[in-house]
Amino acid sequence: MMYYEEDIAEALAGQPFPMIGEEADRLGLETYVIGGYVRDLILRRPSKDIDVVTVGSGIELARAVARRLGRRAHLSVFKNFGTAQVKLGDSEIEFVGARRESYRRDSRKPIVEDGTLEDDQNRRDFTINALALCLNDGRYGELVDPFGGLDDLEALRIVTPRDPDVTFSDDPLRMMRAVRFASQLGFDLDPETFDAIARNRERIAIISKERIADELNKIMLSPKPSIGFDLLDKCGLLELIFPELCALKGAETREGIGHKDNFAHTLTVVDRLSRTSDDLWLRWAALLHDIGKPATKRFDYKLGWTFHNHELVGERMVPRIFRRMKLPMNEKMKFVQKMVLLHMRPISLADDEVTDSAVRRLLFEAGDDVDNLMKLCEADITSKNPEKVRRFLNNFRLVREKMAVIEEKDRVRNFQPPVTGEEIMAAFGLAPSRPVGVLKEAIKNAILDGVIPNERDAALQFMYDRAARMGLKRVESLNC
Ligand code: ATP
Repeated sequence: MMYYEEDIAEALAGQPFPMIGEEADRLGLETYVIGGYVRDLILRRPSKDIDVVTVGSGIELARAVARRLGRRAHLSVFKNFGTAQVKLGDSEIEFVGARRESYRRDSRKPIVEDGTLEDDQNRRDFTINALALCLNDGRYGELVDPFGGLDDLEALRIVTPRDPDVTFSDDPLRMMRAVRFASQLGFDLDPETFDAIARNRERIAIISKERIADELNKIMLSPKPSIGFDLLDKCGLLELIFPELCALKGAETREGIGHKDNFAHTLTVVDRLSRTSDDLWLRWAALLHDIGKPATKRFDYKLGWTFHNHELVGERMVPRIFRRMKLPMNEKMKFVQKMVLLHMRPISLADDEVTDSAVRRLLFEAGDDVDNLMKLCEADITSKNPEKVRRFLNNFRLVREKMAVIEEKDRVRNFQPPVTGEEIMAAFGLAPSRPVGVLKEAIKNAILDGVIPNERDAALQFMYDRAARMGLKRVESLNC
């Protein structure tokens, strides 16, 4: 017995499969588990959702299965699509009748008709996604693999079952899916499949931004996201969907001075970060941390290549990129912006002598995201010079230690001003005006610079002294 046969036998021995098979037999419906579930089963990857295809009515089978499961199950029927879903605990079983699809050129929505298992397998995107396991009595557990998907699973190969030009032109989303599977599974793209993506890349224009973003997020969450981004670049899709990232490519030399290729560097940072964090948005921050570099690149005869303020320019680019890509314009985007803006700070801290006041300011600005910021910065050290790497990482360790000590003492991470603007107005009988802001800012700076401790008494005393020097008269005493 091959290794995968044991895995299949074991998986199909447990419910809900035998019960689905019994119901299918009772209704006289030829029925299979198909697609991603079978692929992941053979790859020994965890997968929750099960796709069941039946030659006939998927809805009828779903109803019968839901009836058998009783109250444990929740049935949803989508008559228009001819599909039904049974929710069982935290997994879903999707039922659909086998179908045949034909495409028109201007849309990725096919004309759909009832079909055979073969028709259904023909409409699948990749050979590894077309495997089916029969659930009927007498053929229970039989693998139907018309395109050699099993061989491709063993060879770690993404290949389309039919002419790749037709597959990709019919539904160009499949180009993104091919790259995504390569990145998720660590597979190679078959050369003909790859060439067809390169030839059909312009067809990506008919795919919605949301679907492209979904695939990009899956690439981003894969174990080594650089696989996906490199492939997108090589097949020419990247410049169509993400020109800002392409602009990072290239290493120029002038007067014998070169700079690193920021595209390669960025991908290294994303991969390094992915080893320590599976947070999607921190990974996005890594991808975008140097996005402002092309726009700020200058050659200076004394300094060589500079990218002054690239973090500020990058911060401003983030919302534009998120909006265009239909990524969320909410606190996730703001988090990415903040990481991009602050990503140089710990490095410059670690470069100089680490003063308390600089650490306090960084803690104040990064707030609760400071640990994520440090992770990003550590991933950003991609130098090939081991001495340099050691020095930076050692300094980062010092920064972290200092942060812990200062946070323990001063609690500036979630800084709340000890005196509010309203209180300042009341104390000096002021209307909302410039002096109120000046006093408030002065108190904040005094705390962050360590002139006074982060306490109300000290802040009030500081405020009265400063106000007196500004010629303001106290009209009301505030409580300590
Ligand atoms: P994941 O759950 O990670 O997205 P999956 O392979 O299970 O992976 P689904 O999108 O759930 O992906 O699709 C289930 C199955 O449907 C696939 O395995 C494939 O056989 C088929 N499929 C999905 N999308 C397409 C498509 N655009 N073109 C052709 N077949 C597709």
